[in-house]
Amino acid sequence: MRPQRLVDGFNRFRARYYKPDGTGLMNRLAKGISPDSFVIHCIDPRSGAGTVFDAPPGQIFTHVQMGAIVPPYNAQKMPSLNASLAYAIDVKKVRHLVLLAHSDCGGIAALLNDMTDKRIADWVETAAKAKSAAENKLGKSDAAALQAETEKLSLAMSFKNLLEYPVVKQAMAEGRLSVTGWLFNVEKGTLQEYDAAKDTYTTLPSPAPAHRFHRPPKHKM
Ligand SMILES: [Zn+2]
Repeated sequence: MRPQRLVDGFNRFRARYYKPDGTGLMNRLAKGISPDSFVIHCIDPRSGAGTVFDAPPGQIFTHVQMGAIVPPYNAQKMPSLNASLAYAIDVKKVRHLVLLAHSDCGGIAALLNDMTDKRIADWVETAAKAKSAAENKLGKSDAAALQAETEKLSLAMSFKNLLEYPVVKQAMAEGRLSVTGWLFNVEKGTLQEYDAAKDTYTTLPSPAPAHRFHRPPKHKM
């Protein structure tokens, strides 16, 4: 059976971004794109780059991996990620690379719960060091705290791995690429930024969601 919800969505998308006179956003993007960012994120539908960064079509290259886990660089493994990084960074010259992990991550939960499905376990165990470090720090009694800590440590580990990919390393050395690690908290609606030098996270300042619907306060002169 055809997924009708997607067909309906496609028709809304088409109506919004295509115009008969060729001036729609997608009409113009059909002539070429030059995105400045590349985001690696989880398969979780709440953490898509277009969603989290409120991006219209054509702005962000994306690569999707369960848990936003990036394994250590190995020339023979991860050919898809290597190809995506090479294309976005060296061919299309993006200036910003973002690794976007998120809270309540099913991939991290699978890692913590020792999922027996080998197809999933084989992948999430790439982040096994994050799990053992979190368990050593917190123990196993508070499942929610352990999940949150493992998400932080997994992103930190993946971020450091990403910096060792030759295409990333070279572009950074040449000063043409910034690399950022963000943890998106789905419940709170916040972004926590990873600082690799200090090995800490800082929450980005964001206006409260309601502010955009309020008039700004009048300033007394
Ligand atoms: Zn996830």
